[in-house]
Amino acid sequence: MTGLFDSWQRRINYLRISVTDRCNFNCVYCAGGSDSSALRSVELSYEEIHRIVEIAAGMGITKLRLTGGEPLLRPNLSRLVGMLSQVDGIKAISLTTNGMFLSKYAPELKKAGLNRVNVSLDTLQADKFKRITGSDQLKEVLAGIEATRLAGLNPVKINVVVLRGINDDEIIDFARLTISQGWHVRFIEFMPFGALRNEVGEMVSAEEIQESIQSLGHLEPDVGESGDGPARYYRFTGAAGTIGFISPVTKHFCHNCNRLRLTVDGRLRPCLLDDDEVDLKAALRNDAKTEELQELIRRAVTIKQEQHHLADGISPQKRSMREIGG
Ligand code: SAM
Repeated sequence: MTGLFDSWQRRINYLRISVTDRCNFNCVYCAGGSDSSALRSVELSYEEIHRIVEIAAGMGITKLRLTGGEPLLRPNLSRLVGMLSQVDGIKAISLTTNGMFLSKYAPELKKAGLNRVNVSLDTLQADKFKRITGSDQLKEVLAGIEATRLAGLNPVKINVVVLRGINDDEIIDFARLTISQGWHVRFIEFMPFGALRNEVGEMVSAEEIQESIQSLGHLEPDVGESGDGPARYYRFTGAAGTIGFISPVTKHFCHNCNRLRLTVDGRLRPCLLDDDEVDLKAALRNDAKTEELQELIRRAVTIKQEQHHLADGISPQKRSMREIGG
């Protein structure tokens, strides 16, 4: 068999890259309200990221996602997209962003070779937006979503992390937008991360979310949308948009996991929810040969666990979400 396979015979073909841990928002469930604009781990250079991707693509990685922190805070992210889109074997590059800078950058990102964008948006109400993100720029985010659509980066997917007592009253409003505006909305269960475990709010399960939108119509499974990602997709009869449910807590999808993560400081992390990592940066900066880097990538794949252990109360302690990129 060619390609990268872990100890559980899962094919690993997807690399998520955190390009910065800085963020212009301070989402309560991610940064815990702390100021993340000042965080700055030693970021990998674009050339270093490119080298890792070239080697990983030679081993079987075909899909990339740029994330962060807020990836569009990295100057000239389009340059990185352009470099990565030229790598042999890379078939798709996507971006996860808070949407703030999309009006400015969507056209050039598209031109550089970006294929898709996910925007994180947890509320449609300005006052609540401020409470969740610490920013009053909801309008800019909505304009960014529209600009991305117009730039042809479709479908734009909207990620909604649902927290009880905070935005669960808006589940139905988001769901309605899949009918009225053709939005593609994905509801995500809140994952407990380190210190954030109990402070933020209670997770709302995907099952509960699904139940709460039944009144809008009949939800049909959407086979066209279900790729190899974690979401289960549905569509209201006749709706242009889709609804995805991502349930890392109540119904994990580890058996389908196909990913590795590159942290902002150059470590390969086999599982979002497990603190084991393999350091690539030290090797890179010691002029490691290609074979050495290949060996480190293989090691990361080999130590990938069968599944996470949130159900046993074990959650990652060493990193924040924005260092890993979600
Ligand atoms: N700044 C970008 C953004 O806002 O999309 C990218 C980074 S953010 C860490 C990536 C994704 O992780 C977002 O969709 C965010 O909603 C999600 N996320 C962060 N903390 C989370 C948590 N505790 N549980 C579930 N999802 C989380």
